[in-house]
Amino acid sequence: MTVGIVGAGQLGRMLALAGYPLGLDFLFLDRDASVPAAALAPVLVGEFTDRALLRKLARRCDVLSFDWENISVAALRSATRGLRTRIAPPLRALATGQDRLAEKRLFERLGVRTTRHAPVSSLAELKRACLKIGTPGMLKTRRMGYDGKGQALIRDHKAIGAAWEKLGGAPLLYEELVGFEAEVSAIGVRARNGSEAFYPLTRNWHQEGMLRLSIAPWSAPALERQARTAMRAVLREFNYVGVLAIEFFVRNGRLIANELAPRVHNSGHWTIEGAHTSQFENHLRAIAGLPLGRAGVTGHSAMVNLIGRMPARAAVLAQPGVHLHEYGKSPRPGRKLGHCTLVAPTAGERNVRTRRLLRALAGALRAGAHA
Ligand code: AMP
Repeated sequence: MTVGIVGAGQLGRMLALAGYPLGLDFLFLDRDASVPAAALAPVLVGEFTDRALLRKLARRCDVLSFDWENISVAALRSATRGLRTRIAPPLRALATGQDRLAEKRLFERLGVRTTRHAPVSSLAELKRACLKIGTPGMLKTRRMGYDGKGQALIRDHKAIGAAWEKLGGAPLLYEELVGFEAEVSAIGVRARNGSEAFYPLTRNWHQEGMLRLSIAPWSAPALERQARTAMRAVLREFNYVGVLAIEFFVRNGRLIANELAPRVHNSGHWTIEGAHTSQFENHLRAIAGLPLGRAGVTGHSAMVNLIGRMPARAAVLAQPGVHLHEYGKSPRPGRKLGHCTLVAPTAGERNVRTRRLLRALAGALRAGAHA
């Protein structure tokens, strides 16, 4: 069975790494030939909106998926018209995940608490939104935002002009700035036959909008129940197939949904070593019509993203029990180049070893990046 994947970044690469043992083949489409997944499978090179190329991909695949959400739903829909190739996750979920306003409306409709927000398409509307919702708040582009891109913090009314200068022109969303106690994500998977599996909540730390560190499981039974209810509601709403991630803020012991991602997610990378079945394998099992694997954990995991510069490989691997994942990307400030994961028998030991790992990574970066 051949799996076609639109986008051949690190998520596509890790999907292929998980899929080959299952006997699956892969074919990717991306704008560039030197993408992380190119080391593992052929890549059709062209624009994500190129219908002829998308159709070529679809014809050669049994099932079509995507490794990032900023691709054209219209192009994908028309390119696959009349073909028997399945698309998973469903395009309706992809369309919702592309638009922050659609996400918020979905959460509201399903009774999932989300941030107070207002759509903004003019400076006057932004001023009204700041009055209604209050400051400080975040102005965000509705589309194409990821890793903190397309966002401006509005501390007070004096900052409105500068935020509008930065982002005005595109459809926007203004939302309250949440004084959160923690950020967490839920990752779930649904198979074609409707069976579901849920990974335990992951606690995440971001800097400048980018994920830096995740730990799992994050033991908080009341939050786990809230997350599961929200996850189930979204999965069922879309008759979903594949892995879905929902990011939440925690405030006053309650979850507030921030956004969803209809794909495997950075905060689920720990599942490669830390769960019985990784998010990548379970995504493939789901979209290929296979039974899901257990999502239970094998220990207490921590995942650290390697961003901008890679530490020396040997320095990372000298840390006992640390697993390294390099994506094969050239270094650039703010670029996710790899990650490393450790799994410990207890949460306490995980925390001690994570602090040691973070110190070792900082030391290795000071000593110089590897080529
Ligand atoms: P996002 O692209 O919406 O996931 O935003 C990236 C990161 O920016 C989040 O994980 C938070 O750390 C921060 N952030 C985004 N929106 C808000 C908000 N409304 N309140 C507080 N922090 C936010």
